[in-house]
Amino acid sequence: MADTKRDYYEVLGVPREADAKAIKDAFRALALKYHPDRNKEPGAEERFKEIAEAYAVLSDPKKRADYDAGGFEGLKGVRPEDLFGGIDFENLFGGLGFDFGGGIFDRFFGGRRPGARGPRGPLRGENMEVLLRVPLERVLTGGEEIVHVDHPVQCPVCKGARAKPGTAPRVCETCQGSGRQVRTSREGGMMFEQVTACPECGGHGSFIDHPCEECHGRGVVPRSEKLTVKIPVGVEEGMALRIPGHGYASSEPNGPPGDLFVIVRTLPDPRFERDGADLWRVQDVVVTDAVLGTQIEVPTLDGPASVKVPAGTQPDTVLRLRHKGLPDFGNRGRGDLMLRLRVVVPERLSNEERRLYEQLRALRR
Ligand SMILES: [Zn+2]
Ligand SMILES: [Zn+2]
Repeated sequence: MADTKRDYYEVLGVPREADAKAIKDAFRALALKYHPDRNKEPGAEERFKEIAEAYAVLSDPKKRADYDAGGFEGLKGVRPEDLFGGIDFENLFGGLGFDFGGGIFDRFFGGRRPGARGPRGPLRGENMEVLLRVPLERVLTGGEEIVHVDHPVQCPVCKGARAKPGTAPRVCETCQGSGRQVRTSREGGMMFEQVTACPECGGHGSFIDHPCEECHGRGVVPRSEKLTVKIPVGVEEGMALRIPGHGYASSEPNGPPGDLFVIVRTLPDPRFERDGADLWRVQDVVVTDAVLGTQIEVPTLDGPASVKVPAGTQPDTVLRLRHKGLPDFGNRGRGDLMLRLRVVVPERLSNEERRLYEQLRALRR
């Protein structure tokens, strides 16, 4: 319904007089945040569609003028394939490892961009997901990681047809290749039809008299792959990197495989806990240091750093070390390292210490 659509400028969060660069920057930031390969939250996909559509209109001078003059009404007659045809998504997001190309528009808008593949070929295989845990240092620097994937791939010899090359499957005579058996019965003037799998061929519709020797008639063969993935600097928790063509095999002969999505998560680290681009650390400080103040050495991802603990520091005080966190994905900046100070009260005292604490108590009174 047209009246529930949000204004395109509002969607991108830019003023109506924004220039082309401001529109592009706003789109890029929002699209990185809501891209469905990265953002698995409910509603993210809808939001991304909205953002892409707003950008498609506002980045095209002609469509933008039509929209400014007549609103959504002014864009009547623009088809989805016209809408996205002019945008070079690879150029906008190149190198980040996301699918901003034709694939996503097939998924979202049910249409193909001009120049994409022709008529529908055999069914594509399912996408596959693997989990990759990376240390914080890898998030900091980015770089390559190896992913091991064990999955069946289409048999290279019969291309998934299951029969030995040069032979053809024999069509099941019982079901004439449909794989189904229809039983009709009549009861009190009513016709009943019951459809089950053909008992002769087990629902396949054909027999393989000469199975492919490579795959023993299964159509797929197991494969272990070592794939190199490029981890972008500042990779976010749960982000999915797409490796085209390394998913599950197609169930149809000569069908293309699905894609592999590598879900990146951070390895637990005893020193730090990750919170987006920020890191948190619980730092012990003995009570006398909290009272009198001191200089402590703390680990950071860039090596040890010296930190001043002011006199009179209270338990659970948080000290912020600026730009000692992780890089902010898609931006230039870096998050902070937060030190939560835990004031340690000694459980056992020497005689000397006890005497001094008692003196302190006497003084306080
Ligand atoms: Zn085979
Ligand atoms: Zn049959």
